Amino acid sequence: MTELRNRLSRKLLRVVLLSALAVGLVLSCVQIVFDAYKTHQLIEADAQRILRMSRDPSTQAIYSLDREMGRQVMEGLFQHESIRTAFIGHADDDPLAYKTRPPIEASTRWLTDMILGQEREFSVSLVGRPPASEHYGDLHITLDTAPYGQTLVENSVLLFCLGLLRAATLGLVLYLIYEWLLTRPLTKIVEHLARINPDHPGEYKLPMLKGHEKNELGLWVETANGLLSAIEHNMRLRHAAESSLQRMAHYDLLTGLPNRLQLQQQLGHILSEADRLQRPVAVLCLGLDDFKSINEQHSYQSGDKLLIAMADRLRKLSGQTSALARLGGDQFVLVMTGFKQPDAVAELAQTILDNLDTPFILDQKPIRLRATIGITLYPEDGNSTEKLLQKAEQTMTLAKSRSRNRYQFYIASIDSEMRERRELQKDLAEAVKRGEFHLVYQPQVDYRLKRITGVEALLRWSHPSGKFIPPDVFIPLAEQSGSIIAIGEWVLDRACRQLQEWHQLGFSDLRMAVNLSAVQLHHAELPGTIRGLLENYGLPAESLELEVTETGLMEDIVAASHNLHSLRRSGALIAIDDFGTGYSSLSYLKNLPLDKIKIDKSFVRDMGTDEGDATIVRAIIQLGKSLGMLVIAEGVETAEQERYLIEEGCNEGQGYHYSKPLPATELLGLLQHSFFEQPVNPEML
Ligand code: C2E
Ligand code: CA
Ligand code: CA
Repeated sequence: MTELRNRLSRKLLRVVLLSALAVGLVLSCVQIVFDAYKTHQLIEADAQRILRMSRDPSTQAIYSLDREMGRQVMEGLFQHESIRTAFIGHADDDPLAYKTRPPIEASTRWLTDMILGQEREFSVSLVGRPPASEHYGDLHITLDTAPYGQTLVENSVLLFCLGLLRAATLGLVLYLIYEWLLTRPLTKIVEHLARINPDHPGEYKLPMLKGHEKNELGLWVETANGLLSAIEHNMRLRHAAESSLQRMAHYDLLTGLPNRLQLQQQLGHILSEADRLQRPVAVLCLGLDDFKSINEQHSYQSGDKLLIAMADRLRKLSGQTSALARLGGDQFVLVMTGFKQPDAVAELAQTILDNLDTPFILDQKPIRLRATIGITLYPEDGNSTEKLLQKAEQTMTLAKSRSRNRYQFYIASIDSEMRERRELQKDLAEAVKRGEFHLVYQPQVDYRLKRITGVEALLRWSHPSGKFIPPDVFIPLAEQSGSIIAIGEWVLDRACRQLQEWHQLGFSDLRMAVNLSAVQLHHAELPGTIRGLLENYGLPAESLELEVTETGLMEDIVAASHNLHSLRRSGALIAIDDFGTGYSSLSYLKNLPLDKIKIDKSFVRDMGTDEGDATIVRAIIQLGKSLGMLVIAEGVETAEQERYLIEEGCNEGQGYHYSKPLPATELLGLLQHSFFEQPVNPEML
């Protein structure tokens, strides 16, 4: 509440009073000046009246030189209190009559003398009757101004007081009006404003002031209420935005699991708690295998559904874990505590992997997900949340690059392995120039002709260290660094040159299969290169077969399809390698220009023991037939496998049962056997 002296009405009162007083003062002064002028005239009029009344007796007295009469005239004149001196006489003689008295004592004299003068003189000529009109002398009077002045002052004081009173009354009335019309309602509004809760400004409505509905105050209240509810609305919107931002900052919107940020905080707490209790902690980083191809093969919406289902499964399995989060993409993290030996962690990891054997059901169709898990242990593998998470991710990525669907612990040697990989990548960039590569060839047997009809070129690297580095290890490294392009061109050139040689030796319908990496496949110059090679070495186009892996195709199905079609225009054949390990569906296969399906060796290997794998092999053979493609089985190691494949109608076979990959010179012997003597016989190889 405003202090009394600060109130607007008080201020107004002061201003109005002061200005009314000032105006009153000025007006009073004008009035007083006017009064003074009037008094001046009054004195004049009085004097003339007195002179007029006394002129005749005075003329009489001077005419008859009657001093007694003159004295009587004087007496008469002095009845007027303002007469100070009077005389009757002629200027040249002694006066006939004369009277004077002292000036009147008055307290206001000092002031009125200044305005009106101390006294004023008047005279009238005393003349005879006409026609003579003789001049006898003069009647002379002096008027004391004090009595007039007194009246003037009294009037002025009264006027002044009245002026002040008027100003005061006006001020007071204005004050009351203002107080009633403005201060009171404003004070009320202020009281109501004080009741508004700043957190919910729209909750309390300012009441309309009675009698002010239509004026500015009413408008003010209405506008303020509108403003307050708008503020409340905006605040609500902002709160909602803030909390959803908060959620977005800490949780993964798709699965509702904590995100990386939230996980880091949780893990921080878990680690400090583990420190206190001297207990180990395990961080498991799970990455789905080939999730990208699932996403592309189905829709992204399906991919999202799968991720949600995956999160639900992990939630169910994570009963014994302390935290579960999604790092984004296809990566999840579980944090495990309360175990004594890492075996328990391995068991959890295996349980998760085993659980994935049960397919997810998406749109009534079963979909199987596989995952790879990298595991770090606290305190051995790192002492901070970042290190543990980073190393778990690294371990997972590394494990994936070797083989999938498994778990792996981070161990100190992984660091050195990473360094080794980088070294290898550097070496790979130089390997073609240094002539460290050579090719070996593995025969492919036609089951109908019962002889070798093709060979697959497989790359070997003689690393300067003398260590054997399998292509499974260095090819992915070369793909990562990009050196696969140069290496791949070298392989193609070498293989074609070798094939030309064999053709010239008489094995003119021999076919050469060459592996293409996905990186090569996406290289725009590849079709041109192939055409060039076929022409250079004078090879029939269908004697070159290009093997592309199923997973490589599925990484980017649209681009892959486009590239395969342009490759196909070169006339070379195209085989899909490692078939069955990816997630290709019939609809894709139909639309790709494929000549051959190569059943992955993992199915061939377990055909005898695993009923499921035998079924898959049979199904793939049927599929190939129905699509008009040839089917070749790789990794054929036993006669039993061969028999089964032939029974099922598989067209070709490749594997240790016939021959390991061999250098060109050694393969030549095999070819000679196969082509010129008799159908291939494993016992003779
Ligand atoms: P892949 O294309 O599936 O090649 C077949 C692999 O299986 C070869 O391993 C071969 O030695 C092996 N193998 C052949 N018969 C049998 C058998 O009866 N049993 C078993 N267990 N294995 C058998 P290799 O030569 O180590 O090659 C491994 C992978 O490296 C190849 O798999 C291929 O993906 C890649 N690779 C090899 N050479 C090249 C190349 O020149 N370019 C590209 N891009 N990749 C290559
Ligand atoms: Ca191959
Ligand atoms: Ca293969």
